[in-house]
Amino acid sequence: LVVLEAIDVAKSYAARGLFVRGRATRALDHVSVQLHRGETLGLVGESGSGKSTLARAMTRLLGIDSGDIILEGEAITHLAPRAMRPHRRRIQMVFQDPYASLDPRQRVADIIAEGPIIHGVAAKEAQARARRLLGLVGLDPSAADRYPHEFSGGQRQRIGIARALALEPDVLVADEPVSALDVSVQAQVLDLLADIKAKLGISMLFVTHDLRVALLICDRIAVMRHGSIVEIGPAAQIFSAP
Ligand code: ADP
Ligand code: ADP
Repeated sequence: LVVLEAIDVAKSYAARGLFVRGRATRALDHVSVQLHRGETLGLVGESGSGKSTLARAMTRLLGIDSGDIILEGEAITHLAPRAMRPHRRRIQMVFQDPYASLDPRQRVADIIAEGPIIHGVAAKEAQARARRLLGLVGLDPSAADRYPHEFSGGQRQRIGIARALALEPDVLVADEPVSALDVSVQAQVLDLLADIKAKLGISMLFVTHDLRVALLICDRIAVMRHGSIVEIGPAAQIFSAP
């Protein structure tokens, strides 16, 4: 069963800067890919190969030039913001940099509760949900009333994951979620993501430039190069030598 799908997606960025006049960067060159229910699909490839662009296109954080994005059988490619709103909840992102992506002025419980409140959950229920999620991601209940700067990088990434899960999404899109962390902490956060996948049956699109990381967490892997998927298959198959 396919949860999220890109069909023949193309995306170029307009050239910027003084010396690159007129030349657009083709970031995605007619890419098609399917995320199956319950799987973790890795997007791997060198820096600049188009992984982030594809991930952001599939969440509709980024517009595309042509092609379609399909969420559970429905094209969401051209939905207006208002029509997109209920779908937006269903795809949540975890970002690379937990330092940059958490509002330093908000308490942790408020950070996690904010999304549900925007989507109509009563404040009290949203706060209760935030506190439950802190437990799920392995943080102490006392974390609720503290601020992001009081936590380590790995702990902040746990907060980012709790924030994403608070909206009860069908799909989690993680863009280099452990790249900014120390290696020992990377393993802990990967374990947490694997645990969450097993417990909640969530589908995950996992962007990484690190093949080791991809092998640890992904069921299938798509290898990107120059804006195309050049290989896709079960993780073990992708990394077996020819
Ligand atoms: P990856 O995630 O694999 O590192 P990206 O999707 O970030 O690759 O980038 C793909 C290509 O698009 C690269 O050539 C990159 O420089 C370019 N690119 C990405 N974002 C932008 C942007 N906002 N403006 C212009 N070019 C961009
Ligand atoms: P990634 O880690 O995915 O490769 P980068 O760190 O290269 O991304 O880029 C960070 C931000 O800069 C992103 O928002 C991306 O869209 C933008 N960006 C990347 N490449 C370019 C580019 N060539 N011109 C303008 N913006 C870019």
